[in-house]
Amino acid sequence: MSAADFDVAVIGYGPAGATLANLLGHYGLSTVVLEKDADIYPLPRAIHFDGEVMRVFESAGLRPAVETVSRPGLTGMHFNNAQGETLLIRGGTHARGQHGCATNHYFHQPELETVLRAGVQRFANVQVRTRHEVTAIEDREDSASLSVKDLATGSTSRINARYVVGCDGARSLVRKELGSPLTDLGLHQPWLVFDLRLKEGAATRLPDHTVQHCDPVRPMTYCNVTGNRRRFEIMLMPGDDLAQLVKPETLWQLVGRWVSPEQADIERAVIYTFHSVIAQGWRRGRLLLAGDAAHQTPPFLGQGMCAAVRDASNLAWKLDAVVRGRASDALLDTYETERSPHVHAFIDLAVKLGGIIQTTDPQAARERDAKFKAGQPTIFEFPAPGLGAGLWHGQAPPAAQIFPQPELADGRLLDQAIGLNFALIGRPDLLAQASETTRQRWRAHATVVLPATDPQILAWLHANQVSAVLLRPDRYIAGVARNAAELEQISQCLAQLGAAHSSDVEATLKP
Ligand SMILES: Cc1cc2nc3c(=O)[nH]c(=O)nc-3n(C[C@H](O)[C@H](O)[C@H](O)COP(=O)(O)OP(=O)(O)OC[C@H]3O[C@@H](n4cnc5c(N)ncnc54)[C@H](O)[C@@H]3O)c2cc1C
Repeated sequence: MSAADFDVAVIGYGPAGATLANLLGHYGLSTVVLEKDADIYPLPRAIHFDGEVMRVFESAGLRPAVETVSRPGLTGMHFNNAQGETLLIRGGTHARGQHGCATNHYFHQPELETVLRAGVQRFANVQVRTRHEVTAIEDREDSASLSVKDLATGSTSRINARYVVGCDGARSLVRKELGSPLTDLGLHQPWLVFDLRLKEGAATRLPDHTVQHCDPVRPMTYCNVTGNRRRFEIMLMPGDDLAQLVKPETLWQLVGRWVSPEQADIERAVIYTFHSVIAQGWRRGRLLLAGDAAHQTPPFLGQGMCAAVRDASNLAWKLDAVVRGRASDALLDTYETERSPHVHAFIDLAVKLGGIIQTTDPQAARERDAKFKAGQPTIFEFPAPGLGAGLWHGQAPPAAQIFPQPELADGRLLDQAIGLNFALIGRPDLLAQASETTRQRWRAHATVVLPATDPQILAWLHANQVSAVLLRPDRYIAGVARNAAELEQISQCLAQLGAAHSSDVEATLKP
């Protein structure tokens, strides 16, 4: 018998905690969310998420609601020099892309968080306690014990949980408790974040697409958010007087080329320091980290919250498998080994782009412009890194990559057909050859078996020269098979999930 009051305690109810709570709610785990603030943080930080993240919201049953508070981006992000010439473009599609939706989505963070929190209310197994601050954590043998202060009454109580996930942001208490150092990826720079609301009927010179103004005199980012909301992020320069910088007259002067006080109202202007760090040690015993607690990125790719949502997606099904005894506790070690290199790839690119945007030396800017202007603007897409070492089998890629989300012949998107389960998708003739042992493994892990008859899935199998693919509940590929022997091998991933001893799971770790 466990001494725990809850299967999982989630500390922090920002995007990481709210997404995880939705997924744990679906899995039926008894969960408590502890958040010190009374309400959603009212000022926006994130304004963009990508197609994979929409897919996670879709898996959590929230896509229609999220669509009501977001808009698909029609075009990508342009990197322009001081003369307005485009050097680089981050592309994307607003049509149905590889994840079954647009590549870029724009939103107002408090509205998105409202939708995520409303989603959590669907689950009787998830309790949310706002104005409850976790002040101390003790990792015991049979449970983790939290000291929780009720900020409304001042009283303190204890909550015991089998696992604790610190979604408690950049200054994470859980990270301190874990003693996990931060690896510094090299970029730390203060920027001014300036949000505007256009007045009705205002005709401005602001474009529809996001622009990185790579002007060495004053680098800036501009973004059309949603509705009448517009965002400028403005790099601080040596000698800036911070008190003066956030005054309306200075703000209007900085953006006067595009918009004026007659056309818009200031919503807020705040200085943030952008960081690029990854914690080493996302898990110890019953304590885990997710979101900004585990990693922080400069927002040049709009990916900090996206990484938080991916963390939740990677972790939720593993917690479910471990708590329900279908996997040994060692499965949770694959969370950091899989996710850390993945988020590292995004932060590395954001830091590189920061180097391009934040060039303030005029000569270096001229050389940069000459290099890029030598040809047409280079178009690049988001990185698509595979997972690091973890629970997947065979050669990467395609193993350890995310599987696309095509539309099935019956009109459903793939994820709607497979739910939050493992899925074995393969040519019917190969699936028919599976042994009874392999079929038992599929059953033991509620694996959805989907004969591949849809043209888009057949095209994917053909392009990758395989006949079957095993997907994990987070849609990453656990393995591919060309024949019956390989089908048995990839199904071993499921057998190892059910292992009673950690050594069996560790045996699946890739070097
Ligand atoms: C200017 C700016 C622009 C950005 N733009 C983008 C973007 O376009 N796209 C994108 O993907 N990301 C973007 N980001 C990053 C994104 O905002 C963050 O990555 C995201 O909010 C992290 O979510 P989180 O849930 O991990 O942490 P947070 O949102 O910080 O939430 C942590 C929560 O934990 C609570 N908490 C902390 N300690 C305790 C405790 N001891 N007890 C109880 N509760 C506690 C806090 O009150 C808070 O509510 C941007 C960030 C900034 C600053």
